[in-house]
Amino acid sequence: MNKPSILLIYTGGTIGMVQKNEQGMLSPVKFDQIMDEVPELNRLGYLLETIAFNPPIDSSDMNPKVWAKLAKTIHRNYNRFDGFVILHGTDTMAYTSSALSYMLENLDKPIVMTGSQLPIGIFRTDGKENLITSIEIAAAQKNGMTIVPEVCVYFDNKLYRGNRVIKRHADHFSVFDSVNYPLLAKAGVDIKYFTENIFYQANKGILEVRTRFDENVVVLKLFPGMSKAVFESILNIPGLKGVVLETFGSGNVPTSQWLIRSIKRAIRRKVIFLNVTQCQGGAVKMGQYLVSKELLEAGVVSGKDMTTEAAVTKLMFLLGQGLNHEDIKMHLHKNLSGEISE
Ligand code: ASP
Repeated sequence: MNKPSILLIYTGGTIGMVQKNEQGMLSPVKFDQIMDEVPELNRLGYLLETIAFNPPIDSSDMNPKVWAKLAKTIHRNYNRFDGFVILHGTDTMAYTSSALSYMLENLDKPIVMTGSQLPIGIFRTDGKENLITSIEIAAAQKNGMTIVPEVCVYFDNKLYRGNRVIKRHADHFSVFDSVNYPLLAKAGVDIKYFTENIFYQANKGILEVRTRFDENVVVLKLFPGMSKAVFESILNIPGLKGVVLETFGSGNVPTSQWLIRSIKRAIRRKVIFLNVTQCQGGAVKMGQYLVSKELLEAGVVSGKDMTTEAAVTKLMFLLGQGLNHEDIKMHLHKNLSGEISE
């Protein structure tokens, strides 16, 4: 049997950082140094190739250009490898994993994203286990078929669907959560795959990569006391095309008439509104309360149980595809790649 072949793509993040000064400031280092820290990789028995982005970045600097570079790197190497592992900072991993899930159509190989909370050179690092198990998952096959043909995130023994995660903790090793979608796998003595939660394409097509995003969007988080001046000035941003409105509970907004009037004015200018909840779990149900019924009538789209990360990247992605206004609205609340429950 052929050895599984894995492409490891290093973009940066804490996993590959070192302390640069006495204050302990962390900044990314060259990839070779990471590989030197994990000699176990050579014993896995896989064909492992690596590509390191130059310069490596803190994921706070991620943007659609780097997403495009990642998607094109995967596309270029797609037929040569059984699976892909992306090393990435945790801060914006949920945005990148969501973006990639939309960009890679007809994906039937694993793209496992991981990183760490402590640099790989540090004794107590969580990076080694995250990296080694991610590679095992990316290589996992049963009866010659890939077990997890999805964009996913592996961290602290858990494998999540990439467009369902949120970063929920800044310090713990258990960084991510996926409140609205169950785990794809759990690693203990064995790696247990929950295949009932994994998406398998019925008709296999050729991988298509779409790399265009439109950045003329905003995430507008409501809070009690938000003033009309602040709210309206955000909606009046020149060139604004889309708003992810982070609302209370199951999609509720204050009853102030100025608020709904400002939203209606922006909708007349063809700004698209996508309603997601500020809660970590559960879904928007517009019309359940009087305070959200008016949003529904005004033409605000329900983001249902999407995370903000999945919603804003989906909005940028759909706006970038040159679709007409109604089609964008229609696709927003439909399932593209497992990010929303229909
Ligand atoms: N600031 C780092 C980053 O996101 C944090 C991490 O890697 O976890 O790149």
